[in-house]
Amino acid sequence: MNWPVPELPEVETIVRDLRPELTSRLIENPRLFYSDVLYGVTSRKLLAGLRGRRIVEVFRRAKHAVFLLDSGVRLIIQPGMSGVMLVYRGSPSAAEQRYAVLTAELSGGSTFMYRDVRRLGTILLLDEQGWRAYTARIGPEPLADDFRVADLAARLGGSRQAVKKVIMDQHRLAGVGNIYANEALFRARIDPSLPADRLDPSQVARLYRSIRTVLSQAIASQGTTFRDYRTGTGARGSFQFRLHVYGREGRPCRRCGATLAMTHSIDGRATTFCWRCQAVRSLNDA
Ligand SMILES: [Zn+2]
Repeated sequence: MNWPVPELPEVETIVRDLRPELTSRLIENPRLFYSDVLYGVTSRKLLAGLRGRRIVEVFRRAKHAVFLLDSGVRLIIQPGMSGVMLVYRGSPSAAEQRYAVLTAELSGGSTFMYRDVRRLGTILLLDEQGWRAYTARIGPEPLADDFRVADLAARLGGSRQAVKKVIMDQHRLAGVGNIYANEALFRARIDPSLPADRLDPSQVARLYRSIRTVLSQAIASQGTTFRDYRTGTGARGSFQFRLHVYGREGRPCRRCGATLAMTHSIDGRATTFCWRCQAVRSLNDA
């Protein structure tokens, strides 16, 4: 099985846990154990950019954790499917150090660690200009206060691709991956293969509400843990117990009882759906 990468709710959970532990701390001793996760930065440059810097802000953008330093530079960590970010009071044990990719001793005696067994994550270090270019390439945040139905409509409108593929496209919309695309489309009762430009206004409005509701509920549940994902305190998320379709193919639809179907034909990923609840076509096709 293709294990999912942390999506918006998982990274948001990690960031909320890390924020109080990291904000205003000084990075005293950063160490990088593997450089194959670096993107656009050398090991030496990364460490020089972190050493002696104060962390002024910790936040999320799309599926990435962003650490703003007092130099104006941003450290960005996109945890892969096995990436975990934790803060230890004191020093981690040798066992805890296993698979460490980046560690940083902090003022106050704690230690930040990014651990990644498979090292499919990415680390970037961006100056102001690099950050602006980076964030401009990513679509709007679906949970932002100023994200409206009209914004989603605009993001969908120009595409004939399957709506599922479009809402997972990070250039169009930030943070939604396979789990929450499946869940949002089920909740909105929309066929995941429907071309995005065929959704009628009521479907767009339902999808908008569903995406925001599903993401918010998943954050409230601290994300979905199938295997490796952990919160910023090392706990498991619990949204896996509240999924309606993702990973439930062959089981009964929680709404109508029909057997859930699964296909890889939309985007190569597992799309699980209810052929009955999500069969209603767009009014645009009538
Ligand atoms: Zn159903």
